[in-house]
Amino acid sequence: MQIVKDYGPITGESIAEKLNLTRATLRPDLAILTMAGYLEARPRVGYFYTGKTGTQLLADKIKKMKVEDYQSIPVVVNENMSVYDAIVTMFLEDVGTLFVVDDESLLVGVLSRKDLLRASIGKQELTAIPVNIIMTRMPNIAVCYKDDPLIDVAEQLIEKQIDAMPVVRKTEKGYEVVGRITKTNMTKAFVSLAKDDV
Ligand code: ADP
Repeated sequence: MQIVKDYGPITGESIAEKLNLTRATLRPDLAILTMAGYLEARPRVGYFYTGKTGTQLLADKIKKMKVEDYQSIPVVVNENMSVYDAIVTMFLEDVGTLFVVDDESLLVGVLSRKDLLRASIGKQELTAIPVNIIMTRMPNIAVCYKDDPLIDVAEQLIEKQIDAMPVVRKTEKGYEVVGRITKTNMTKAFVSLAKDDV
């Protein structure tokens, strides 16, 4: 890196010469430094020092993380399901958020733990109330797409004070739910960064 800093742009051949090494010996090192973003390679010109700090490189890496690489399988329920059955589903599926769909499997709402708790503290008959009465409904649902940067979704979770977001595919009729992104996925992404597993 010091050689590239001092003499860049410089070819791999010239770097090897300065180090008394063969080009082949040096190749893996240059590949790693280029992949990590410290150096940049231009064909026929050679290697440049990018001048990026470790923090900038980490930020670049974070911005490249996509929803589809961290999303989980969504748990969806029909809008006519009773609040009682939704509570049972939440326990059986071991999730904190259920996505609500209509008969055409299009997204119509979201049910959080507190939505279900709130409905439960009244004196209502939980088996008789459909979830579409108590859910947060479209168009007030925050959604994301599989190609979205994970960091944008993380910002929205904070801003909107929610635990989860459905990953959707847009069709002419509405949104199909294809995945789920939660604070747990964000925690896993954070850990994978530390393990350099991105
Ligand atoms: P909890 O209520 O268990 O703390 P949340 O913080 O996720 O869970 O939910 C807070 C409120 O926001 C609930 O009323 C829920 O229906 C709603 N909500 C949850 N996820 C979304 C979303 N993606 N878009 C819009 N509203 C949501």
